[in-house]
Amino acid sequence: MSLKGKTSVVTGSTSGIGLAIARALAAEGTNVVINGFGDPAAIEKERAGIESEFGVKAVYSAADLTKGSECAALVKFAEDTFGSVDVLVNNAGVQHVSPIEEFPDDKWDLIIALNLSAAFHAIKAAVPGMKARKWGRIINTASAHALVASPFKSAYVSAKHGIAGLTKTVALETATFGITCNAICPGYVWTPLVEKQIPDTAKARGMTEEQVKRDVLLAAQPTKEFVTVEEVAALAVFLASDAARSITGSLQQIDGGWVAE
Ligand code: NAD
Repeated sequence: MSLKGKTSVVTGSTSGIGLAIARALAAEGTNVVINGFGDPAAIEKERAGIESEFGVKAVYSAADLTKGSECAALVKFAEDTFGSVDVLVNNAGVQHVSPIEEFPDDKWDLIIALNLSAAFHAIKAAVPGMKARKWGRIINTASAHALVASPFKSAYVSAKHGIAGLTKTVALETATFGITCNAICPGYVWTPLVEKQIPDTAKARGMTEEQVKRDVLLAAQPTKEFVTVEEVAALAVFLASDAARSITGSLQQIDGGWVAE
C-alpha cells in the first residue's frame, strides 16, 4: 500500500527540516498541510511549488502552535479540507541558548509550549480519526538532545526529552490500531535554527562563531558533517511507509554517530 492519496500535516514546514519532510511526503503522493511562519509570498511560492511539482494538493495554515487550541484547529482544518490526517509530523520548534541562571522565563515557556506541548495537543486531536480508520503515522522531530544534553540548552533538552516520553507513551496506547508513533533524533542539521544559535553560543562560551561551528557543533558529530534536511526527510518517509509498520515507540538517531560516543 502506498502513501498516495493520504493526508500529511507537517508542523513548522515553512523552513528547514519541516519543509523538506513536507516536500518528500508530497513526492510520495500525499496531500499536505504546511504550517509555520515566514514571508507570505515565499510561503505561497513553496505551497504552489509543491502542487505543481508533485501533483498533489497543498494547503497552508498559519496556526501558532504555542497555543493548544490552534494545534487542535490545525488538525481539524486538515480533516475538513482532505477528510483525514493520516501522517502527522510534529516538527515545529525553536531554540534558545543561555546559561540556566540567566535563562529568560518567557523563552522557557515558549520552548516547552512549541517543542513539547504542541505535539501533545496535535496528537490528542489526530488520534481519534486515526483510530477510527485503523491507520496512522505520528512522527515527532525530536533531536539528539532527546537522548543526551548539552550545556546552555535547558529548555530545549527538557522539551526534547519530554518528546521522547510522549512518543513512547502514544506508541503503547495506539499499537493495536494500525498507528505508529516514532521520534526522529537528528544531530546538527544545517537550517536557520542552527544558524541563528551560533552568535548566542559564541557569547555563552566566549568563542568566535567559526570556533562554535567547528569545536561545538561539528565536534559532537563524528562524521564532522552536518546532516542534510533531505536525509531527515527520507527517514520520515520510511517511517510513514507500510514497511515501517512494526516500528513504533522508537527514537531514530540520524546524527552522524553523535550519541554513540
Ligand atoms: P527552522 O527554524 O528552519 O524551522 C522551524 C519551523 O517552525 C519554521 O517553519 C517556523 O516558522 C516554525 N515555527 C516557529 N514557531 C512556530 C509557531 N509558534 N507555530 C508554528 N510554527 C512555528 O528549524 P529546523 O532546524 O528545521 O527545526 C525543525 C525541527 O527540527 C525542530 O523541532 C528542531 O528542534 C528539530 N531539530 C533541528 C536540528 C537542527 O540541527 N537543525 C537538530 C535536531 C532537531
